[in-house]
Amino acid sequence: MIVNKPYFSTFLLLVTLFCVSNCQQAKPKTTSTAPKEAVEQTPISSPDTIKKEIVETKTYDYDTLQWLDILDLDTSIQVDMKYATTDNFVKEKMYECGRCLLRPDAAKAVAKAHIYLQGKGYGLKMLDCYRPRPIQQKLWDKVPNPTYVTNPAKGSMHNRGLAVDLTLVDENGKELEMGTPFDFFGPKAHTFFADLPDDVLANRKLLRETLKKFGFKHITSEWWHYSYQGARSELSDYLWECE
Ligand SMILES: [Zn+2]
Repeated sequence: MIVNKPYFSTFLLLVTLFCVSNCQQAKPKTTSTAPKEAVEQTPISSPDTIKKEIVETKTYDYDTLQWLDILDLDTSIQVDMKYATTDNFVKEKMYECGRCLLRPDAAKAVAKAHIYLQGKGYGLKMLDCYRPRPIQQKLWDKVPNPTYVTNPAKGSMHNRGLAVDLTLVDENGKELEMGTPFDFFGPKAHTFFADLPDDVLANRKLLRETLKKFGFKHITSEWWHYSYQGARSELSDYLWECE
């Protein structure tokens, strides 16, 4: 068979052009349909559903029957665990990382007190919460004086996960004036020390009355320390996880 070369070349060129243009058109066609199908198959979640899904899929790195991390209840509570820094009376970092864990009932009571204070334009700042007994031992080893540190053999409410050291902050997160810093040892830090400016007395009173309302009792020697009265629990050696 005799092939007319110029015609055959033109034919080949046309076939190639047809194929190239078809391939180029086919690609976007395929990619444009895929996401459309995916969108159609995914149910649209309402904000409430999304919130519920997040709560249900949240995993905790501690036993929630024993403990609650205060930030898992309310992220607007300030947490500045002083024993996870060198800003404390032993001037040494005692925790690998600072977390405010408490027994569940005590944690919920703190969260309620915080919400109550928010209604008045204030909030809570946590300075120490549950203190594992091995940490209490470390403190005791440094300062074996029962005036300042509870003997770990006896154990404190902090070691039971029922005590908090805390202060008040204003709506900008600034600490209110309380007369002394945290862990100041002396009469001026006593809860009912009267020779203080009126605003300091009012701030201490607000902290005291609020916490009392939610089940916490003051001690006389430290304005920042409160113990939860609504539950009992054992001393604990549990050490929380760090990132
Ligand atoms: Zn305390």
